[in-house]
Amino acid sequence: MTLIDGKATAAAIKKEIAEKVAGIVANGGRRPHLAAILVGHDGGSETYVANKVKACEECGFESTLIRYESDVTEQELLDKVRELNEDNSVDGFIVQLPLPGHINEQKITEAIDYRKDVDGFTPVNVGRMAIGLPCFISATPKGILELLRRYNIPTRGKHCVIIGRSNIVGKPMAQLMLQKIYGDSTVTVCHSHTDNLKEICRTADILIAAIGRPAFVTADMVKPGATVIDVGTTRVADASRKSGFRLQGDVDFDTVAPLCSYITPVPGGVGPMTISMLMLNTLLATERDW
Ligand code: NAP
Repeated sequence: MTLIDGKATAAAIKKEIAEKVAGIVANGGRRPHLAAILVGHDGGSETYVANKVKACEECGFESTLIRYESDVTEQELLDKVRELNEDNSVDGFIVQLPLPGHINEQKITEAIDYRKDVDGFTPVNVGRMAIGLPCFISATPKGILELLRRYNIPTRGKHCVIIGRSNIVGKPMAQLMLQKIYGDSTVTVCHSHTDNLKEICRTADILIAAIGRPAFVTADMVKPGATVIDVGTTRVADASRKSGFRLQGDVDFDTVAPLCSYITPVPGGVGPMTISMLMLNTLLATERDW
């Protein structure tokens, strides 16, 4: 069994990006510029955005953080999004979700110019991905694809089973694994109403769990030799930790790992890849001609 080290892979990717940026700057070019809009003071969002700003520094990017209090109006946010769409000094930008309840998230997302949508959340980017056009692929599925690629895990013609059909993980992952230019796999998507879930999972060469239910995938659901990718990150109480909790994946790691050829741990697997993929998308934003 090989443990897929997302932390080390993400660090290597950021280093590669930093080297590329240093080369661009040495040749008189401009640093990639990522802007982030953060509304309110939600602890999780503050941490995510701070980590993104830090990753920009590591990669040699310029970053701009635009903050609003949680009473900002939808119109003010829409105006800022439109301003960033037009700002030629900004290559890409994100609006950190979730937004306060009085703001329509979908309306804000749809206002972002797809050519600057480095989160890959706009319907235009999702549609372009579905038909194989150049696009920004959202960070978590892109990170999983990158892990499979860097660990030389064959995907072409393999049976990939994805548990979960959310818009941010399950569905884009299924599209990517299906596409000839990415996974080129045979794909099955399971969800909470799937009959014979265990039997279907047991036929997977690559099993991707994106459910949000700790230790849901057990050894009797995994074919010996399969690759198992665990996207789940649920906080479970743990009195032995200073924080009082630990992150638990969707896979019962201790019983499943001995069966696998490759497996991602939680933490340290898929999670660390996400921000490095946002950085890669921002670099792509400076190079794109679409
Ligand atoms: P979500 O929107 O809650 O979707 C969960 C999916 O799992 C749904 O499609 C649901 O089916 C399915 N599901 C729930 N219970 C099930 C069951 N008993 N059997 C089969 N399918 C079941 O979650 P998400 O946003 O995709 O996130 C999933 C997990 O990944 C969470 O733990 C989240 O924290 C984590 N995550 C991690 C990262 C990262 O960077 N590491 C990024 C994003 C998400 P229905 O559609 O039928 O309801």
